[in-house]
Amino acid sequence: MLFKAENISKIYGSGASQVTALHRANLEIASGEFLSVMGPSGSGKSTLLHLLSGLDVPTEGRLSYDGQEIYKLRDRELSAFRRRRIGFIFQQFHLLPVLTARENILMPLLLDKGRVDNAYFDELTGILGICDRLEHLPHELSGGQQQQVAIARALIAKPDIIFADEPTGNLDSKSGAEVMRLLRDIWETMGKTLVVITHDDRIAKMAARRVVIMDGILSEEGAAR
Ligand code: ADP
Ligand code: MG
Repeated sequence: MLFKAENISKIYGSGASQVTALHRANLEIASGEFLSVMGPSGSGKSTLLHLLSGLDVPTEGRLSYDGQEIYKLRDRELSAFRRRRIGFIFQQFHLLPVLTARENILMPLLLDKGRVDNAYFDELTGILGICDRLEHLPHELSGGQQQQVAIARALIAKPDIIFADEPTGNLDSKSGAEVMRLLRDIWETMGKTLVVITHDDRIAKMAARRVVIMDGILSEEGAAR
């Protein structure tokens, strides 16, 4: 078992303005799984992703990775855990505009004083088809290419698990399909664990396992409620 979330809830605000974004979610993910989390806007998808990846802490509940309790880690341990074990892909790419594609991809290693594995860098940029775009700045790339750079950045530190939050949300349908094909290829060839959050049914269906979230309540697709 790679990780296990038990009864995690997130309540924002207090009093009359209180919002229960996630209610007692339970989820176990095994190493190598490809899972989609689908739900409409405002259903709690990003909240779930932030909690599962240790970007935020829940109001209640527990999360363990390989048996280690994540919400008990100190800030520095938690950020080291995130940098080394988790790759993030966002809807808005979040590339640094003044850095080239190559520099953006290598950024996580600089932050962690990690060594560059050149063979791995070449393999990754080869799979993603961006070898001839590495010296370009983000604004010189198409949306799809920017997301391909962001995928390489998410993978450069060799994380175990990739979380993608609406990775195709800012792309036209053709580039979106290409980005999903690449994520699937990476899942298949590199044996990563992949969690894709989406409100698009077609994308959700590409995953081997599907979870649905409605008004903060998580349920496994196909499972009885
Ligand atoms: P999704 O990603 O599915 O669109 P979110 O997880 O972003 O949904 O949000 C779930 C609910 O929690 C929404 O009602 C949203 O308005 C609320 N919410 C999210 N973040 C905050 C926050 N920081 N403060 C207050 N409410 C929030
Ligand atoms: Mg969201």
